[in-house]
Amino acid sequence: KQPARAAPQGPQKIPGVAHLIAVASGKGGVGKSTVSANLACALAQLGRRVGLLDADVYGPSQPRMLGVSGRPASPDGKTILPLRNHGVTMMSIGLMTNEDQAVVWRGPMLMGALQQMMMQVQWGALDVLIVDLPPGTGDVQMTLAQKAQVDGAVIVSTPQDVALLDARKGLDMFKQLNVPILGMIENMSTHICSNCGHEEHVFGHGGVAAEAEKLGVPLLAEIPLDLSIRLAADGGAPIVVSQPDGPQAQAFRAVAEAL
Ligand code: ADP
Repeated sequence: KQPARAAPQGPQKIPGVAHLIAVASGKGGVGKSTVSANLACALAQLGRRVGLLDADVYGPSQPRMLGVSGRPASPDGKTILPLRNHGVTMMSIGLMTNEDQAVVWRGPMLMGALQQMMMQVQWGALDVLIVDLPPGTGDVQMTLAQKAQVDGAVIVSTPQDVALLDARKGLDMFKQLNVPILGMIENMSTHICSNCGHEEHVFGHGGVAAEAEKLGVPLLAEIPLDLSIRLAADGGAPIVVSQPDGPQAQAFRAVAEAL
């Protein structure tokens, strides 16, 4: 038997993971999961060994977006084998519950599940692990930053004022947790009508660029509100995979290259 050791203090490296990047948003529904899935697939296309941990406990959408299903196996009863698709190794809290089952776990259970997904999953050797966080500034973000070494955070926001205000809180939280902000992504930036090509700024435009400049962090991309992005995400093959030569895929690959 191993002698009992004192619990390790402070953030730990996840075994085998070279870089851990959190994708965060202040508000829900701004496209954080869509961005996470596309970034992960773009990194895989660039030849990186990439994992995606879906920690969005209140609305895990990565199984659907990456087109994986089924309960992950645990042959030794201790560690969990992740699933894999589009070159991305993935694990989601959504694979531990039914898709239509609301997560009504209490805080400690949630934190236990998060820690299990970080430390007990056989991630293997990864260049990058992307963590799709729940929206806001809650327990999951705190636990992640306290338990694991987070190398950087990407903040996703729409140009709309409310989403921006919330994103600012997120930036503040990561600063307090000593997590470097890699940059912001403006999602749903411009809508181009698939019928007539008319360009419209449904949620305003340029708000995130202005905010990023004010805060002194890079604006990594402006992703349009595009029906094909939504259809691809719902179909289990993100736009980067389903239309790899399109402008959206190129935008995501440019971000992936910069990470
Ligand atoms: P979040 O993770 O921030 O809650 P999601 O990534 O789940 O947001 O996106 C919410 C919805 O909006 C999903 O149906 C998704 O397919 C869609 N969506 C996200 N980004 C875009 C975009 N740029 N263009 C079109 N639809 C998008």
